[in-house]
Amino acid sequence: MGMNLNKDNGRRYFDNYPLSAVIPRWIFALVEMGLASYFVFKFGFRFGLIFLIYGFVGIFVLLPLTRCNRCFYYGKVCNFGLGKWASLFFPESGEKVFSSAYGYTILLWPLRIIPIGLGIIPIFGLIRGGLSVPSGELGDMVETIISGLEMVPYGIFVIYLLVIYLHRKYYRSRSCTRCYHISDCPVYNKNSLLENEGR
Ligand code: SF4
Repeated sequence: MGMNLNKDNGRRYFDNYPLSAVIPRWIFALVEMGLASYFVFKFGFRFGLIFLIYGFVGIFVLLPLTRCNRCFYYGKVCNFGLGKWASLFFPESGEKVFSSAYGYTILLWPLRIIPIGLGIIPIFGLIRGGLSVPSGELGDMVETIISGLEMVPYGIFVIYLLVIYLHRKYYRSRSCTRCYHISDCPVYNKNSLLENEGR
């Protein structure tokens, strides 16, 4: 699998990512989406279904239309493998600035904001329950809160947050460092948005 030199920044990058880089990203993404779905389905079956459909549309339609279609990896194997998918079903954008449609990323935010919000609500309930113990003693409050910390749903929520964190750590260290867009990608470098505005 070839590596090339990016003349702009002197870094080596993958022109196509190997499967050993793509597969872990999919495993992370599927585990994350599975745990996220748990919280949304728990809230309501219909919400869960809508969430899954929206996740599918987000990854396979919105991302290709707002990022992949102006990416170096359009038609190639990017670290998520979507560059190939995008070139099969979506036209390439004439736009050369990679981050030009980055603002639309906001459309993907619900995929994390909703499950995180639904995961936090029971924690507030637990704390409220602890604060209202009849004795009003701090020790009783803490004990009530700790004794209510069960694996389901609190442990699952912690695992979910951990998976998001590890996923991010993984792609930033393993994928971004070999990516052609490392210098102009707002995911990796927020300042690139400002730099690109001046272009
Ligand atoms: S720098 Fe990282 S997040 Fe940005 S396009 Fe490349 S691999 Fe994806």
